[in-house]
Amino acid sequence: MRIATYEHQGQRRVGQVSADGGQVTAFALDANRAHLGALSLIERGDWNALPLQGQAVSTGQVKLLAPIPQPRRNVFCVGRNYHEHAKELRDSVFKNNNANVAAWPIVFTKVPECVVGPNDDVHLPGGITEQIDYESELAVVIGTGGKNIRKEDALKHIFGYTIVNDVTARDVQMRHQQWDLGKSFDTFCPMGPWIVTADELDGTNTRVRGWVNGQLRQDGRTSDLIFDIPTLIETCSRGITLYPGDVIATGTPAGVGMGLDPPQYLKSGDVVRVQIDGIGAIENRFV
Ligand code: MG
Repeated sequence: MRIATYEHQGQRRVGQVSADGGQVTAFALDANRAHLGALSLIERGDWNALPLQGQAVSTGQVKLLAPIPQPRRNVFCVGRNYHEHAKELRDSVFKNNNANVAAWPIVFTKVPECVVGPNDDVHLPGGITEQIDYESELAVVIGTGGKNIRKEDALKHIFGYTIVNDVTARDVQMRHQQWDLGKSFDTFCPMGPWIVTADELDGTNTRVRGWVNGQLRQDGRTSDLIFDIPTLIETCSRGITLYPGDVIATGTPAGVGMGLDPPQYLKSGDVVRVQIDGIGAIENRFV
């Protein structure tokens, strides 16, 4: 099932999207629950039995929001997690800690308030950074929480998958050692267009692509992950309880702007599209 959060006729709703992505039908949720977006479904065990209400409407007639418009806490993110991407960045951000790469994933977070919708503008923070970059990523949405989740059990904890663009200010990322500031500017986490539940998508082997102004820059498969999805869930839940609705962005394939020679950063007016087979696409203008 595809689950979207959207605004229609001035109201926030959560709905089931048709297989072709063309129509959406609201679930019967009161306004308080709908305000949480798809989180309101993820947090209830019986969401599958929740009735739909009203007519299907065209997804073109609604404003799609991030499926979880404001996650309850920071978005977990994984750095340098595709083999080809690790190669392109070897001599830049990571020149001092290459030795640690094989043993453990790099994990950082983005603050929940930087999440925006699949077609919203991303704001360039003027005067603070000159090096805005895109990162096309598959994101895992946790369904059943837990602590010390074992790799072999991890897939059972996944509610579904969505797309994020892990927008990054490279200069800020590098100057602070910790990445959170350079990753968490307002609007720096476009997400959507909906969640595809885990029974409908094999997130461990799907294609992730990214375009800038129509030019294909990134084209990878999640089967190329250095640390696979079960390992990421095992890692993030080591001694830390994961909750329903937690989001783990799994890293980006090769082809980011910083990896180009010379590097090419985003400027006002640029449009970045991220598409993942089996989910759909998000497309955001940078202003
Ligand atoms: Mg990333």
